[in-house]
Amino acid sequence: MSLCLSCGLCCDGTLFSNVPLEAGEAARLKGRVSLVRGGGAMKQPCRALEGVSCRVYEERPQTCRKFRCLALQQLEAGEVSEGDAQAFIAEVFARRRRVAETLDLDDEPQALKLARAQAKAGTISPETLNALERLTRLLMFLNLSQGSS
Ligand code: SF4
Ligand code: SF4
Repeated sequence: MSLCLSCGLCCDGTLFSNVPLEAGEAARLKGRVSLVRGGGAMKQPCRALEGVSCRVYEERPQTCRKFRCLALQQLEAGEVSEGDAQAFIAEVFARRRRVAETLDLDDEPQALKLARAQAKAGTISPETLNALERLTRLLMFLNLSQGSS
């Protein structure tokens, strides 16, 4: 889907910190993704992500195959236009960029990881916290299943 080809938020650590794996997937993908200890999941940002492309696309885990964010679900159901879905994704990127700006970092996924760690440790600045909360609200929406309330 072309929406995904300009996104990658479900692979780069923005939406998820890891991806659960089914039996056999860790062995199949070993060396091409970063596995958590025990091999039950792979870490994000995903090592197989190149730009917004998946280097193991044909062999990607079931979790990756099944996941559809709400923007994609709504687009596929004809409930929103491609332009509206793209605009929503662009807003998520803008809010993630804002988090990175508050930390004076260029690498947005890494900045987001840092901001989350700071929030957890209670060391986050009010400016970064505000930007993180604004982003998190959109991410919660994006991660909803169709029909969730
Ligand atoms: S499923 Fe959604 S979050 Fe994932 S790449 Fe596609 S548009 Fe982006
Ligand atoms: S394996 Fe591919 S689809 Fe799955 S998280 Fe990694 S880059 Fe994304």
